[in-house]
Parts: sequence; C-alpha cells; structure tokens
Amino acid sequence: PSHSTVARPTIARRGTGNLPATVGAELLVPLADGRVTDYANFDHGASAPCLESVRAAVEAALPSYASVHRGNGYASRITTQWYERARAEVHAFVGARADDQVIFTRQTTDALNLLARAVPADATVIVFESEHHAALLPWPAERTIRLAAPSSATQAVTAVADALRTAPEGPRLVVVTGASNVTGEIFPIAEIAAVAKAHAARVCLDAAQLAPHRLVDIAELEVDWVALSGHKLYAPYGTGALIGRADWLNTADPYLYGGGATETVSAEGTVWNQGPARHEGGSPNVIGAIALAAACAAITKHREAIEQHERSLLARLRTGLAQVPGVATYSIFGEEADRVGTVCFTVDGLNSTVVSAALSAEYGIGVRDGKFCAHPLVGHLLADSAEHATAVRASLGLGTTREHVDRLVNAIRTLATVGL
Ligand code: PLP
Repeated sequence: PSHSTVARPTIARRGTGNLPATVGAELLVPLADGRVTDYANFDHGASAPCLESVRAAVEAALPSYASVHRGNGYASRITTQWYERARAEVHAFVGARADDQVIFTRQTTDALNLLARAVPADATVIVFESEHHAALLPWPAERTIRLAAPSSATQAVTAVADALRTAPEGPRLVVVTGASNVTGEIFPIAEIAAVAKAHAARVCLDAAQLAPHRLVDIAELEVDWVALSGHKLYAPYGTGALIGRADWLNTADPYLYGGGATETVSAEGTVWNQGPARHEGGSPNVIGAIALAAACAAITKHREAIEQHERSLLARLRTGLAQVPGVATYSIFGEEADRVGTVCFTVDGLNSTVVSAALSAEYGIGVRDGKFCAHPLVGHLLADSAEHATAVRASLGLGTTREHVDRLVNAIRTLATVGL
C-alpha cells in the first residue's frame, strides 16, 4: 500500500501536560522500506512501558540496597523500610481495608495460583469461561463450576447468582476479571460481589487489565482479593501482588517453603509465619516492589488525566474502525459496554497475523494477534465467523497519541480496501 499516511519520524513528546512520561516513548523503529517512524505501541494490554518516575525510584534504590527483614545494618534497615513502604503504597492503591494484606508475587498469574493453593479443600470455585487463562485454570477442576461467557452484564450477575444458589454447601469463591483482556469490557464487579455476599461467597478480582486504567477500590467494590501485575501498570517485569483477606492465606500451606516463611524450625517441626511473610519465602524482589509502588503512586496522582486521555483516544479509535468496511469488532456485552482502551477486531479477507505483521513492518504499529491467552472467549466471540479463528487486539495506554490512533485507523483502512 501507499505510505503516504505513515507518520514522519517526528518525535511525539509524551509525558507533557498532565500525563506521566514513559521510558523509551520516543523509540524509532525501522520500516520495511527503510524509513523510520516513532513506535505506535498498541500492546499496552500485554505489558506497558516503564514510567520515568519508576526508573527514578529504581535508580535511587539500586546503589544501596541490602538484605530485607534479615540484617540489622543500616542498609538492611533502609531496604526493609522501602519494601514495607512499597507494600503500604500497593495497599492504598487498591483501597484495601486495614486488615487486608499485600503479598508480593511475580505477577497476576502467580497471585492467582497462590490464592488457588489457599482455597479451602471443600470450597467451590465459580469462574466465567471468558477469563484469561491465568484466572481460568489454577482452580481444582473437580470443584470448579465454569460459567459460559456472559451475554450481558445483567446476565453475568444472574449466572453467578444461579450458580451460587445450586453450588454445594461450604466455602465458595467467585473469580471475575475487572476488564477483559480481549475486548477491554468492564465486568459488573460490584453487582457480582453483592450477589456473592448474599450467598456468603468470596470474590477474587483479576485486576490485571483494570488497575492500569481505572480505580480499583477493594472496600467499595466489596471484593475479597485483588490480583495485579506490575508490568501492566508501567513498572518492569517480575512483580505483582495479591491483596486481600488474610484468613484463608494464613491457614494455607506456604506457597514457597524456605527462609522468611518460617517462625521457628526445630526437630519438633516447623512453625510457619502468619501474614505476607508466610507466602513470600526466599529473598524478596525489593527493587520490583519499589518499582510497582512508584507506578501505583504515579497512576494515582494522574488518574483523572490518564482516564480522560484514554477515553478520548478509545472513542476515536472505535469510531475510526467502525467506518472501515470489512472490519468487524467484537464484544462480550455489546457496543454500549464501558471498557478500557482495548479493541478486538478482524479484517475481512486478511488473516490476523498478516494484519499485525503488516502494521509492524509498514507502519511501525505494534498490536497483538491470536487468541490472547483466552481461548474459550475468542472461540465464543468468533463462533459465527467462517473466516477467522484469531483476531487482532489493539490496546492503548498513556503513551498513545491521536496520531497513533489515526495511523492505525488509516493503516487498517488501506489494508482492508487496497489489501497487502
Ligand atoms: N489476567 C488478565 C485479565 C490478563 O490480561 C493477564 C495478562 O495478560 C493476566 C491475568 C496474567 O498476567 P501476567 O501475565 O502478568 O501474570
């Protein structure tokens, strides 16, 4: 196709105005024809670029860190303070209750697997098939009720209520995503939590996609646990958290056996710690915790501006794509649903992998294609498509500009009308 719509390699200055800056926001990428352009990142849903303030926090800690909760030297005491302050920042970020605990994990997958280990032996778990595999798979198969992907927000709540009404006696856990990683749509969390509460069930919110874009308030939503990932929150890889009720976790076996998880070890046996330490065996990822906390602080500070920025770009993207013939967009609840900045689409006559490869090679645009670790949901959304088994996902974030959105829409228009 013609390259007349490709942006010149002008540098978009991001992080000005009300939005925090990201590291590498001015990345220039080579195009297939030898020119360069600035990278239009539409893959925030997978991992979001690190914030400048996160880099600064990490750099400040790097020269002088020492052992955490183990040494009494000055550097050890300071590092322990950093680690516990980071825990407090994450606690505040999700509006946790005073007695909720923050357990640092590797990411959301780790956090949900940790909770799965702590679910009482006689508990029933209820989960939608539309979940990301990280929220769909960790639960014991024989005690898990899988609900079909919902058709509307109201139906989602009714489905949970019906499942709880007929579930076996004993503890129950409802697992639900905050925002779908495939369509960006926001689930009726407070309503599901209210139904769960009426049936004395617990709720775990997978906030991997919601927390970077919208306020998540555990106490207000009345959920019991929240899981999130630092690398989707503009911090680097390697740190996430499980935040919430202590009871199931304090009676469960430690997630990792080893130092830090123990209170005493003797010939008579081992007494495991209570609280976060029980499941944080081994030397903790303090730098990761500092990074995650810095990201939480920046997002909290700029929350309104981030949300406004993303809402306006999402509207522009959705309107633009809706005007391109041959483009189909997909949703769980319908076009009117509230959503974070993610769009799932296919282009008639073009395989999704080909679309994403062309966007990268010819326009400097990064999207994702495939089934997005949500195979049952993508199968459900594409059930009526004779042509497509996979889709393209464009997910925007605070580094996205109007020019990026226009470039994506124009590129898709060219691909859909002119072809490759
Ligand atoms: N849940 C949702 C909704 C996600 O989108 C993802 C990642 O894409 C995960 C869980 C898993 O996150 P991580 O890979 O950081 O563990």
